[in-house]
Amino acid sequence: MRYEGTVYRPPSEARSLIVQVTIGCAHNNCTFCSMYKDKKFRIRKLEDIIDDLDSAREYYRDIKRIFLADGDALILKIENLLKILQHIKTIFPECERIGIYATPKDILNKSLDELKTLKENGLGIMYMGIESGNNEILYKVKKGVTSELMIEAGKKAKKSGIKLSVTLISGLGGRDKIKEHAMDSARVINEIKPDYVGLLTLMLEEGTELYNEYREGDFDLLSPEEVMIETKIFIENLNVNDCVFRSNHASNYISLKGVLNEDKNRLIKEIDDALKENMYKPEGLRGL
Ligand code: SF4
Repeated sequence: MRYEGTVYRPPSEARSLIVQVTIGCAHNNCTFCSMYKDKKFRIRKLEDIIDDLDSAREYYRDIKRIFLADGDALILKIENLLKILQHIKTIFPECERIGIYATPKDILNKSLDELKTLKENGLGIMYMGIESGNNEILYKVKKGVTSELMIEAGKKAKKSGIKLSVTLISGLGGRDKIKEHAMDSARVINEIKPDYVGLLTLMLEEGTELYNEYREGDFDLLSPEEVMIETKIFIENLNVNDCVFRSNHASNYISLKGVLNEDKNRLIKEIDDALKENMYKPEGLRGL
């Protein structure tokens, strides 16, 4: 396999074979994100992707999951995505799931029939970054989409039958927007009804615009208590069924996991306990 630069994948794809079908992210403008800052976006040549898959087949005996990276791999033309999925099916018959990073725009640029065809050809899960359901925050962090478009894309993904995993970032609105961020994010999740929700906690990285705003005193990082309060408002306002909730990433101050709505009260109690005991992961142990 040939990899270019740092390769990112969702935590649940830790054991997957990662294949870069794009390099970088076409948007590459979010103020909090440093992932692809060093890469100029491009779509890799189809023959190089196929070559990589063939060499992985020679090397690995058993591949159960394959993840298509980088940032917004779903941007590829449908014909090329189908060629990749069909090649995977042929040479990795044991593969049980193929995943992909997808921006809301990538999803909206595909027709529902195209998404259904991708599912029929093995695409099992799409990962979409929502970050916040609040339009003011989305605008400020230069996400490039509104919550209305997030909802439209999310509903379309769900309708296609492909599993949908979304992520949000607590603390992204700073201290002034705790309530709005939590409540609007819950509203967007309630509308989309994704299969998986991951809640990360904001960590600032040098070189990002948001880090510079923080250094200049134009942005506040939340304390662990404030993150808990925001998370509690978010969970209290969620109303989804059979939705796997995870907030157990290296960036999170406490580890929360459950299935909504059934585990809602337990999750809220765990947050209340953390607030009472004031026991959080030390800053030095947090990571992205
Ligand atoms: S958060 Fe996602 S869309 Fe935004 S720059 Fe990073 S990879 Fe691209």
